[in-house]
Amino acid sequence: MSLNLFIIGPSGCGKSTQAKLIASKYGLTHLSMGQILRDEMAAGTPEGLEAKSFVDSGKLVPEQLTFKLLTGKLNQIGNKDFIIDGFPRSLGQGQFIENYLFQVNQPLDLVIHLDVTFEEIQARRAKMGVEFQDKDRTDNTPEAMAARQKFYDDNNGLIINYFNPKGLILQFDGNRPIEPIFADIDQKIYQLR
Ligand code: AMP
Repeated sequence: MSLNLFIIGPSGCGKSTQAKLIASKYGLTHLSMGQILRDEMAAGTPEGLEAKSFVDSGKLVPEQLTFKLLTGKLNQIGNKDFIIDGFPRSLGQGQFIENYLFQVNQPLDLVIHLDVTFEEIQARRAKMGVEFQDKDRTDNTPEAMAARQKFYDDNNGLIINYFNPKGLILQFDGNRPIEPIFADIDQKIYQLR
């Protein structure tokens, strides 16, 4: 039986941290849309060059580019046993990936929504300070952060409203330390198996 998961939430909510923990516990491949794009940029590929100005300004890169890169990675792992973080970020992306998985005969098991307030994210950033920020990232400017948050606020409800009636959304209070959040998510995934 495969296990195909997604984790969504605002930038800075801790979804990558949780995705890594889940991936290691359940033997899944962790795919981060943001990291896939940063890797392309670092390698200087045409896709990376196309993505750069969008990523640096905190805007979503064009859909066709994310679809191509993500399905390329999924294909390499047989389209199963993964946790994807940072995708879908729009209703269109959600419908695309649902359709893609259907085409490759794979279930979409669960979308984990990590709900964190903007105040909590700001507080975490202030506590971390500049020296602990990801050096590999060129989009930690206040403008790019605000743009990411705005896109999230405008789009997340649409994604939730689309998947919720299908019974595919589980929401978690992410305004807590890493361990209790992981314990809650883990318990739910365990029940899925
Ligand atoms: P993240 O690492 O998740 O904070 O994403 C960093 C940046 O990568 C975002 O601000 C976007 O520019 C781009 N990005 C990440 N995920 C997506 C996505 N699903 N669709 C389009 N662009 C994305």
